[in-house]
Amino acid sequence: MPLVNKNKCVSCKKCVKKCPVNAIKMVKGKALINEDKCINCGKCIKICPVKAILKDKEIVKAGIKSNIQETKDSLSKLKGKKAKKRLVKSQIRQLKRHQKVLRGTMKKLKNMKL
Ligand code: SF4
Ligand code: SF4
Repeated sequence: MPLVNKNKCVSCKKCVKKCPVNAIKMVKGKALINEDKCINCGKCIKICPVKAILKDKEIVKAGIKSNIQETKDSLSKLKGKKAKKRLVKSQIRQLKRHQKVLRGTMKKLKNMKL
């Protein structure tokens, strides 16, 4: 599912006009994609002149980059290898817990009777 980087969007509305299912509207001068309507065709990504619309892969990559940066910022405030190792271990534990929650939720959603 594409995602608009609001900081990059220059409000040209090209994506709004190109979307075959009218899934994009302008909100406060920035493009916003309605996830319920989007069919993931990628046409908006191709037409955006400033590359403000990110693909799934890019969203994941940006998320990882931001997490790593956050960890680096926290590490820079700590002194000593032991404290730094503890922080990294604790973050990995938290991520594992999140991963379990997400997997469990996805499994339940897939089997949900509608
Ligand atoms: S990916 Fe396709 S359907 Fe989804 S918002 Fe972009 S143009 Fe519309
Ligand atoms: S095409 Fe790109 S810059 Fe233009 S409105 Fe859409 S997201 Fe914003």
